[in-house]
Amino acid sequence: MSKFALVTGGSRGIGRACCVALAEMGYHILINYQSNEAEAIKTLELVKEKGTGGEILKFDVSKGADVLAVLGGWMETHQEDQIAVLVNNAGIRKDNLLMWMSDTDWHSVLDIAVDGFFYVTRLIIKDMLVKKSGRVINIVSLSGLKGLPGQTNYSASKAAVIGATKALAQEVGRRGITVNAVAPGFIKTDMTQDLNEKDFKSLIPMNRFGETQEVADVVAWLASDKSSYVTGQVISVNGGLYS
Ligand code: NAP
Repeated sequence: MSKFALVTGGSRGIGRACCVALAEMGYHILINYQSNEAEAIKTLELVKEKGTGGEILKFDVSKGADVLAVLGGWMETHQEDQIAVLVNNAGIRKDNLLMWMSDTDWHSVLDIAVDGFFYVTRLIIKDMLVKKSGRVINIVSLSGLKGLPGQTNYSASKAAVIGATKALAQEVGRRGITVNAVAPGFIKTDMTQDLNEKDFKSLIPMNRFGETQEVADVVAWLASDKSSYVTGQVISVNGGLYS
């Protein structure tokens, strides 16, 4: 039996750093992505450099049928293996003031964060319950804790996943499964490319944006045995930025 970690949105940014950190811990990695195959292949190469294996799984987390076909299909053909760690990381931003926000921008952000969490976690939690072990780690955001103007869609989506994290932790705790969330502040990735660090860093007590590795290190700790009595928590990784 091989132990796998699935990282949704593992092709780039925080997800890629999580794939590499979990590979360093000895997990085989399932790298999910939606459209950027070249970046997913790059992540797989980085995973292999750590001496473990990996596979790329292309599916849109917000589409229940896709999740079932691709991820469910993989699980069917790998019944001897276990997805021991799930990192729900896939996410997008579509910022606008609420008064100008289109239906598409509202729903696309919520669908990927909230429906994505639901479809993927529902599938994997069943096997974790049978195996009586597992780690679910949801990447949320400062925006979901504090609310940020121009991000009602994104803030709502992340707040929803925070609520789901706390609820699910209580459902599955008896079976030895932990469910936690990690809430990054400003991290240097494609998602924050349009934000000038110089304009924002004075707001951040540590006076800089974070690195993807700094988020992945917390995810790796939550995936490890060292966090065995931590569940239902939201851990901020934001350089001290709150309000
Ligand atoms: P990123 O660099 O833009 O990467 C986003 C990842 O999500 C990509 O791998 C992308 O795949 C994948 N993705 C997007 N839509 C998807 C879908 N429908 N199905 C499957 N995969 C999908 O973003 P990031 O900054 O690393 O963000 C990762 C997570 O951290 C997100 O949940 C984000 O909200 C959260 N976060 C980020 C920051 C920050 O400052 N960067 C702060 C707080 C929270 P493709 O490569 O195929 O497009």
